[in-house]
Amino acid sequence: MEALQRAAQALASARNVLAITGAGISAESGIPTFRGAGGLWEGFRAEELATPEAFGRDPELVWRWYRWRRDICSKAAPNPAHVALVELESRFEEFLLATQNVDGLHPRAGSRKLIEIHGNIDTARCTKCSAILPLDDASEIPGSQVPSCPRCTGRMRPHILWFGETYWPGVLDKAFAAASRANAVLVIGTSAQVWPPAQIALQAQKSGATLIDVNPQPTEISAAADVFLQGKAGDLVPALLHACDRVCGEGIRTS
Ligand code: NAD
Ligand code: ZN
Repeated sequence: MEALQRAAQALASARNVLAITGAGISAESGIPTFRGAGGLWEGFRAEELATPEAFGRDPELVWRWYRWRRDICSKAAPNPAHVALVELESRFEEFLLATQNVDGLHPRAGSRKLIEIHGNIDTARCTKCSAILPLDDASEIPGSQVPSCPRCTGRMRPHILWFGETYWPGVLDKAFAAASRANAVLVIGTSAQVWPPAQIALQAQKSGATLIDVNPQPTEISAAADVFLQGKAGDLVPALLHACDRVCGEGIRTS
């Protein structure tokens, strides 16, 4: 438990905190990670479906996969790690949660200081006029999985950053700006194989932040971390919050 204590101390003395989450934080909510067990769908790997080329080749297939994933996400509930992050957001002068997840569990748990850097599974974007809409507002075409744009009838795609695509303007700037000011950066459930988010965490550390990593498996981030909390997010993030509160006495840090 020494590592938990060190992590709690780093958080308790921080004014600015950046949290970065990946698919692992939602694993205990029943949403499979891409690279873990259950990451395959009908024999396809995510990297074969979440690309502009796959969508160009077979938009029906890609939408069928997204509808399956969206159904899993809508039935899933936030777990104690999502809830503990909502608690953490009010404890620091500045806080930002940058998630790679598209499942919507952070906003559903109540996180507000949040950027979903890879988009959200409940939104769609028109490939013709670029309108971004809640998927429920897109027009269904009878017999087709592919929704169409209610404004221009163009084909709609999931509003999600796919493999090989560049980030939307401004999204990473916000995360890097938070990284440069952070005193502590808390990385949870990310394999570090998705590079810009790992780079944000390492950039924060370079600028002086204590890097804390939570993951049951060692990764490149845990190897570089100041504190590696090895285990499940659902256990360790609430434990970290409580340890941080114990260090702070009554807990709330507003200045
Ligand atoms: P990944 O699938 O590459 O890795 C998940 C990481 O989570 C692994 O390192 C694993 O050891 C760890 N993990 C597993 N169970 C955990 C637990 N209980 N607690 C903490 N950590 C746990 O995921 P990634 O690095 O986030 O990257 C994959 C990409 O796929 C991301 O860009 C993300 O947008 C997308 N994705 C999103 C979701 C989602 O929205 N829930 C699900 C799958 C993939
Ligand atoms: Zn359109």
